[in-house]
Amino acid sequence: MRVIDIIRKKRDCEELTREEIAFLVDGYTRNEIPDYQISAWLMAVWLRGMTRTELTALTETMLYSGDVLDWSSLPGKKVDKHSTGGVGDKTSLVLAPIVAAAGLFVPMISGRGLGHSGGTLDKLESIPGFNVNLSLADFRRVLRECGLALIGQTAEIAPADKKMYSLRDVTSTVDSPNLICASIMSKKLAEGISALVLDVKTGSGAFMKKQEDAVHLAELMVETGQRMGKKVVALITDMDQPLGQTAGHSLEVIESIEVLNGRGPQDLRTLCIELSAWMLFLGERTTSVDEGKSLAAEMITSGLAKDKFREVIRLQGGDPSVVDQPAKLPRAKSTFEVKSPANGYISAIQCENLGIACNVLGGGRERKEDTIDHAVGLSFHKKIGDNVAKHEPLATIHYNVETRLAEAKELVQGSYRIAAEPPCEQSKLVKRVIGASQVVAGSDER
Ligand code: URA
Repeated sequence: MRVIDIIRKKRDCEELTREEIAFLVDGYTRNEIPDYQISAWLMAVWLRGMTRTELTALTETMLYSGDVLDWSSLPGKKVDKHSTGGVGDKTSLVLAPIVAAAGLFVPMISGRGLGHSGGTLDKLESIPGFNVNLSLADFRRVLRECGLALIGQTAEIAPADKKMYSLRDVTSTVDSPNLICASIMSKKLAEGISALVLDVKTGSGAFMKKQEDAVHLAELMVETGQRMGKKVVALITDMDQPLGQTAGHSLEVIESIEVLNGRGPQDLRTLCIELSAWMLFLGERTTSVDEGKSLAAEMITSGLAKDKFREVIRLQGGDPSVVDQPAKLPRAKSTFEVKSPANGYISAIQCENLGIACNVLGGGRERKEDTIDHAVGLSFHKKIGDNVAKHEPLATIHYNVETRLAEAKELVQGSYRIAAEPPCEQSKLVKRVIGASQVVAGSDER
């Protein structure tokens, strides 16, 4: 078998066999195939798509490129949530402690920033000392001790995705439903969970801009997970504007702590409760999603979720005092306010450009090996539908490097549409739930 023939076959829209896909994925994971050939193949997949048979083969090969965790020695359900990525999406930092506080195990394996979207691992690393690179033994220990553990892919877990994820980030091959499905489902199924809640974003700040594409991706993932005996639902949620009021690593940790304190922006709070409720329901901790919502809210008001967050930070080597003193988190040296050019109402936001602005400030990577600045980012003062006066601040840019400001400023300024009238309709935060009717009790106990 030759890599070049497989690339050509995909380029020419022919269906690849399971053996051909495994040859590529395994060869790349073992460093036997160079980045440039996999890049060409990824672009061919992006352009030509995949059949369901190819997608199943890709997901399974990536899943079995490493270990599949077995938690049978830990009594209780293991559940997780994964988002397809957006701007200001920090729900994992809030819901993992909520769900663990309510008694389920959350063995969460997350990614780094991808394209314009931020990654949970990068956010966590803004907490001084926080180690997302735990060995499997430490991952087990932390999960056993506090009910949640938040790590990146280890060499053992879905190593194929780990390598491909960072290559896709720098080859403009992120927003392919097949590649996203295989990436997410391979690493999530490797976690050895019995239930998974997917947050599939749609809108100007999502990889899937159109709702029908988000639904298609959600269906692919739900079908893949359910075929493997897991309880999986997908919530299609709004990403036409940033979630919450901040984007940028340490800014988002601060905002998450606000939500754990019972405060924080309403959209973020609502989505965290909603996703937690589905996790609690699928993990059979509650008998309905509504009961899950009440339990999730209780975990916040009682302070138990915040205690969990402190505990996991401590167990993963971080400084838990940031939960009570968020000012200890990295802060940018300078700020700049982007002001409204006119009176009116915010009618639309080009949300992807806000994510790109964060990257321009140093919060994202242009090359795989780049380091990032955890302190930079944006705070948002206006949501779609809000009234705004001329010269009133729309957003604040938090920056460290003066030469990066001009480009970020232009991106932020160009992101807001202001109209004389408010928009006729407010878009719904949770637009649809996919897979709820197929969720049956009793799938795969681990
Ligand atoms: N999140 C992932 O883990 N993988 C993707 O491809 C996109 C979002």
